[in-house]
Amino acid sequence: MAQIYIETHGCQMNEADSQDIQLRAISAGFTLAQRPEDASVLVLNTCTVRDNAERRAYGRIAHWKAVKDADPSVKVIVTGCLAEQDKDRMQKLVPHVDGVFGTRELGALGDALAAWRAEYPDDQFSVDREIETVMGGEGVGIAGPYDFLRAYVNVQRGCSYYCTFCIVPHVRGRFDHRPMREILDEIRLKTAAGAREITLVGQTVNAYKEPATGADFADLIQEVCAIDSVERVSFISSHPKDLNEKLARVCATLPKMNPRFHLALQSGSNPMLRKMNRKYTIEQFLERIGTFKVHNPSWAMTTDLIVGFPGETEEDFQQTIDVCATGIFAQAYMFVYSPRRGTPAAVWHAANAIPHDVAQDRFVRLKAVEDAAVRAYHERKVGTIVRALIHGVSRKDRTRLSGKTIDNVTVNFPLVETEPDTSRPWADVRVESASVWGVRGTCVGRAASYEGAADRVAPPVFDLLAV
Ligand code: SF4
Repeated sequence: MAQIYIETHGCQMNEADSQDIQLRAISAGFTLAQRPEDASVLVLNTCTVRDNAERRAYGRIAHWKAVKDADPSVKVIVTGCLAEQDKDRMQKLVPHVDGVFGTRELGALGDALAAWRAEYPDDQFSVDREIETVMGGEGVGIAGPYDFLRAYVNVQRGCSYYCTFCIVPHVRGRFDHRPMREILDEIRLKTAAGAREITLVGQTVNAYKEPATGADFADLIQEVCAIDSVERVSFISSHPKDLNEKLARVCATLPKMNPRFHLALQSGSNPMLRKMNRKYTIEQFLERIGTFKVHNPSWAMTTDLIVGFPGETEEDFQQTIDVCATGIFAQAYMFVYSPRRGTPAAVWHAANAIPHDVAQDRFVRLKAVEDAAVRAYHERKVGTIVRALIHGVSRKDRTRLSGKTIDNVTVNFPLVETEPDTSRPWADVRVESASVWGVRGTCVGRAASYEGAADRVAPPVFDLLAV
């Protein structure tokens, strides 16, 4: 058996790296397993951005020991941020791990996989067929039949901004931007294999600078949108410091861009922003969003927020609430501050932490305010027909399909097809209700492309026997 199981924790950068590992594994002759117990090689692509992510990763590695105990030929591999952070002590902490590969060592992981492949019996794989499989052909071994429609493409590694709470520059290093030609080649490869939506990912994606020419992120998205086979383009995550008018103007000229801008605010309080080393004030943040919206009025703004940062007063917190209460954000990822070893904020936290119950209370209050704004944004879609790229069967309700609109709203609708119809991956959904997580409705049409005409879909038959 030469199967590989890849589990991804964390952000879209890790998603992109996992897609890369998948292709390297398939080129080396592995097929993809859906469960760890079926695989010869287990890869955990880890995240360390918060303490619980780190604990979850170690929990998972410990759990996989049972698989290795049952079959000592199984290899357990750790990649991602935890691999960078704990490289030197991983063997001591979890000695059953066979290999630790940092985020810049995926080539070496590919070489190791090629070498290990010979240790496992040949199971009549075909490299060509399996590459087709992972990117969207028929077959087994992929998480979902619609997964290939979305491709993540890393445009940079690391970050040079050193926010005081953040572990990324410490584990991933300073900015290392990929050559534009390499990025565009990868996109052509992925769209040729069926990807409909390209998400450009980076810790601070809009700080992109082409190493040879100095071309910036606005130049990059123009080149990406100029590729005929690219249908939709998205990007995440952006830093307010690098949101300039050029980017705003360029976004307005590119109809393939998904109208969603994820711009991490973190706090509405200037003293907190300064202490976080965020390099902007709340006034500058709002002014930049204002400029962007002048050029792109229909774009949804989304953000990240931290509560309970060391030293945060009730007044500081209230300023974050005030920003959210304006309804400016269509979505916000909110977190209670989590200390990361080796960062300045962890030292401040050790000396003077915000009490857990205070931080928790602030989180609940902020969530209530932001949830109201998110729900209002979703309610505006009720009664309209939205076009969504299908993700697959809803995880919470197996009788429904789930998709995302181009402004990143989750759409659920009854599953009527018996086989996945990936040739028409766009669903037109009449929205009937809205909540904080997204909207629900009925599929009225399916389209082969975002701009294409939809084929009408018959309404689901109401099954009286099942009532
Ligand atoms: S900009 Fe983002 S990735 Fe970079 S240090 Fe700050 S929070 Fe971390």
